[in-house]
Amino acid sequence: MSRQYRFKARPWDLQRAPSVCTGCAVGCNIELHARDHSLQRMVPRENMAINNEWLCDHGRFDTLPLGTERLREPSIDSQRASWEQALDAAAKLLRTSGRAEIVASPSLTNEALNVLRAIAAGLGLPLTVWPAKAGKTRGSIADLVASTTIVLLSLDVWSELPVLALRIREALTSGAKLYFVGTGSNGLARDTAATFASADELLASGGEGLAGPVSILGVGAEDLAQRLEATGLIGQPPSAANGYAMAELPEASFRADALLLAGNEDWPALDGKHAVQLRWAQPATSAGQAILLPITHPYEQTGTVTNLEGRVQELRAGGKVADEAKPDWLALAELARALGLAAPQEEPKAALA
Ligand code: SF4
Repeated sequence: MSRQYRFKARPWDLQRAPSVCTGCAVGCNIELHARDHSLQRMVPRENMAINNEWLCDHGRFDTLPLGTERLREPSIDSQRASWEQALDAAAKLLRTSGRAEIVASPSLTNEALNVLRAIAAGLGLPLTVWPAKAGKTRGSIADLVASTTIVLLSLDVWSELPVLALRIREALTSGAKLYFVGTGSNGLARDTAATFASADELLASGGEGLAGPVSILGVGAEDLAQRLEATGLIGQPPSAANGYAMAELPEASFRADALLLAGNEDWPALDGKHAVQLRWAQPATSAGQAILLPITHPYEQTGTVTNLEGRVQELRAGGKVADEAKPDWLALAELARALGLAAPQEEPKAALA
């Protein structure tokens, strides 16, 4: 029995909602279980194209908002405020600041990102991302599983994308070979056929299977793929849930006088800067000169995220919302309206995978 809901609910008491794990960019399909609309646990939902029937421990146990102190109401400089007051204050700050920067978390939904693009364009402000460990891949996870050779370029796939590591193991049980190039660990040491210091060394070795379907993941994957004419899953995968959609955004500088920080990240120290923060957990440090707007956890709202292979998947609400929190896209659409800007169509539309 799941330790998360032991003694709290019987299986027949649970409300179930299909959704997507937001612990990393694999985008494993899940079912959220709630009792009296209070989230209890998540279990895997089979999708042979993505996660097979697996979840990793990080996704299963660390990504639910259980035991986290939630941000439940808007505030201005630590004083409780109504949504209208907080939105007006945020709009005034962004409109009157000499220099402002809009920073997106790579875990926001695509719909929230669309509204942020509209706000950035409307105000003529830079839109950036943080943390910026984002890249893109081409091909699919199915291509990876069907590969005869898999090359990891300094990518610790076991730590960063755990279920992708399991899909690599699946390919290895069908006879594929795994090579590691670079330094550090790939988390699959026992499964690795050989390790090379550089891509040139790998090519010089004439590694067995390099002529078949080859998947290459990590920094420099495209260069090596061109040399091998590889056709599998190729590229530097993003690590965050929606990193793929943010791959083209520049990394945040945090140098502006005023910041719009959208998403639940441990943002760098603000050092007296003015900030508008949209988040679902209480900030770790004193909000200081901050306008806080509560948003829902990804498992409490609708929206879409794009996984590491570019597949758009739908989130569904599996539990009730914390007091005054709103979906990320709705909170940003209301901010756009407070700024006098037209928000794009924000309602999520994608179908479940
Ligand atoms: S691999 Fe990533 S998406 Fe899948 S269960 Fe783990 S954290 Fe969630």
